[in-house]
Amino acid sequence: MIPVPGFEGRRVAVFGLGRSGITAARALQAGGALPILWDDGVSGRMQAEAEGFTVEDLTTADWSGFAALVLSPGAPLTHPRPHWTVDKARAAGVEVIGDIELFARAISALPEDERPKVVAITGTNGKSTTTALIGWVLKQAGLTVHVGGNIGIGVLALPKPTPDAAYVIEVSSYQLDLTTSFAPDVAILTNISPDHLDRHGGMEGYVAAKRRLFQSQPVGSLALVGVDEGWGEAIARDLATFQKRDVTAVSTRDHGPPVMEDAKSVLWTHDRTLFEVAKSMRLETWPSEDCPLVDLTPARSLPGRHNAQNAAFAYAAARALGVGYEQAAAGLMSFPGLAHRMETVGHIGPVRFVNDSKATNADAARQALTSYPSVFWIAGGVPKAGGIDDLADLFPRVARAYLIGQAAEAFGATLGKTPHEIVGTIEAAVAAAARDAAAAGGDQVVLLSPACASFDQYPDFEARGEAFRAAVMALGAEGGAA
Ligand code: ADP
Repeated sequence: MIPVPGFEGRRVAVFGLGRSGITAARALQAGGALPILWDDGVSGRMQAEAEGFTVEDLTTADWSGFAALVLSPGAPLTHPRPHWTVDKARAAGVEVIGDIELFARAISALPEDERPKVVAITGTNGKSTTTALIGWVLKQAGLTVHVGGNIGIGVLALPKPTPDAAYVIEVSSYQLDLTTSFAPDVAILTNISPDHLDRHGGMEGYVAAKRRLFQSQPVGSLALVGVDEGWGEAIARDLATFQKRDVTAVSTRDHGPPVMEDAKSVLWTHDRTLFEVAKSMRLETWPSEDCPLVDLTPARSLPGRHNAQNAAFAYAAARALGVGYEQAAAGLMSFPGLAHRMETVGHIGPVRFVNDSKATNADAARQALTSYPSVFWIAGGVPKAGGIDDLADLFPRVARAYLIGQAAEAFGATLGKTPHEIVGTIEAAVAAAARDAAAAGGDQVVLLSPACASFDQYPDFEARGEAFRAAVMALGAEGGAA
């Protein structure tokens, strides 16, 4: 656990007693603060009391005595309306922060030469893959690495900082909204597409939250930005041109690398090859300008163009932390991959079953659909705004779609003449898709990439992916790829 200094002997309100809230309370207490905990639900309060924390009703507390409110990222800061604790904190002039900010303060309280390196990753899609991949590459290169944040272990539950360590932290837009001084050495924005708009009051608020990742970065730190959509591109240009930051632009687009004159470097992937386009990259200019850096073809767990983008981020981050070219490239090749992200769970003869349950929006599903020339596609659940309208250009790749959950009828209407059927459940979808794929003959892919949240049928995307895996195994599939 990482003790948080700066609040010694002072009362700090902690609202939201899920895992991250309780961890924040422990970290504050370890740093000498007096955390005062509360949650609207009884179970969190009971756990807090069982651990010996002070639980106090924050609806009636004297807010003028609090040094800060540490808010759970699950509670809204601004939209649809501020949580009542936020109203109370603001009325009393109390700052509202989250666990990432506490982490930032714990790091910046250390003398400069004792600070660990911090790599932070945000973006609409690809955060977890990029985070895990960077962690893997750094670990393979022999660094002491702690991976956490919005993935796996909460940031404050990670081991105490040591000068030789590197933290690789996934950060959500909700967490970013609750930061004021987070200053990662390497900050990565993978991409931006509409998501979570209800919590950010629209696209502008969402983009502003993502933008906060770069806000406090000191001179000499590195910004790695995906520039294949307008929001990321605008952020990269602003950082490079107006804020004079070291920016590495990352692109996977077909029609050549983007022109980013003020960027330190442009990394461009094309046909599974990673190129460095600009010459003045901070990371050292090897092999040479406009030269292929890494052939990603053997990186089996990084299929698809989107994973080439993730690989480019990981390569650049590793190089920035001093990992040699050969080691960085080797780490990309040996990455074992993450569950529920285009994960091959098994095969029946030449039919491969791919679990991409993590694709909870259309843009994520686009990446999976683009990775195969033809798919038997299982989709549906709780749809996001726009449904699968934006995927129409990929419908010719859909041999047949199997629709589940709340979105089934609407997706059926959008698919129109593309062969599809409403099957309702994952189990029915897997059985029907397996049958059709086998009948089609040859190498075929059955893909669960729902383009939807899972909450109508499952507690989370992991449970949905496990249901898919179980249904595939129940058909007698063998593990892994054919
Ligand atoms: P996140 O943590 O941001 O949700 P994940 O790495 O878990 O991202 O991937 C979520 C989904 O997004 C997966 O279905 C994957 O296919 C897709 N995806 C992964 N990387 C990218 C990327 N760089 N751009 C777009 N989509 C991606």
